[in-house]
Amino acid sequence: MKLIILGEPGAGKGTQAEILSQKFNIPTISTGEIIRNAIRQGTALGNEAKQYIDRGLLVPDSVVIDIIKDRLHEDDCKNGFILDGFPRTVPQADALTKMGITIDKVLSLEVPEEKIIQRISGRRQCNECGATYHVIYKPPKQENKCDVCGGELIMRKDDAPETVKNRLRVYHEQTEPLKDYYKNKDLLVVAYGQEEVKDTTKEVFKALGVEDYDYN
Ligand SMILES: [Zn+2]
Repeated sequence: MKLIILGEPGAGKGTQAEILSQKFNIPTISTGEIIRNAIRQGTALGNEAKQYIDRGLLVPDSVVIDIIKDRLHEDDCKNGFILDGFPRTVPQADALTKMGITIDKVLSLEVPEEKIIQRISGRRQCNECGATYHVIYKPPKQENKCDVCGGELIMRKDDAPETVKNRLRVYHEQTEPLKDYYKNKDLLVVAYGQEEVKDTTKEVFKALGVEDYDYN
């Protein structure tokens, strides 16, 4: 299955992508994660991307498209993949088509905006290894300490309230038009995010027409 997941930042795309990835045994390709790793490692790409991200702006298409092109040609993508965070703009979607990549479905995961703001403000990430937590939904065993490596947990700069407002605005302006774009291609399906992750998963599988999932 070749799938794109759309949704506002904080809609829970990453979590659902992980579940789908296990179910179908295909990789999740998160441009955000690839870029954040590059930033942590201080590569040229990372440093370039950081200037945009810190201001709540999107990394330029040319940079992101190069990353994706390389990644989709790796061996583990042969049977399919889940794209999380790409395409984010109509030109990026066009670029994907030009690469000769056919997509089976585009899932839009929808959550009310006040919930999104509440969720994002509780997110934390390990400064050392990049593991992610949430003060309410996925707290670390010890406050502000990574369960995996003991590193310090920080709020990502792009999760700060002012930046989040910017990210939501950018989403509405640049990414939301993709819903119509894919609707016109007859690829769009919609799932509504629920309080509990497993209930959201149920909605996601229903939207994708997958019936045999064991929800427990
Ligand atoms: Zn860690």
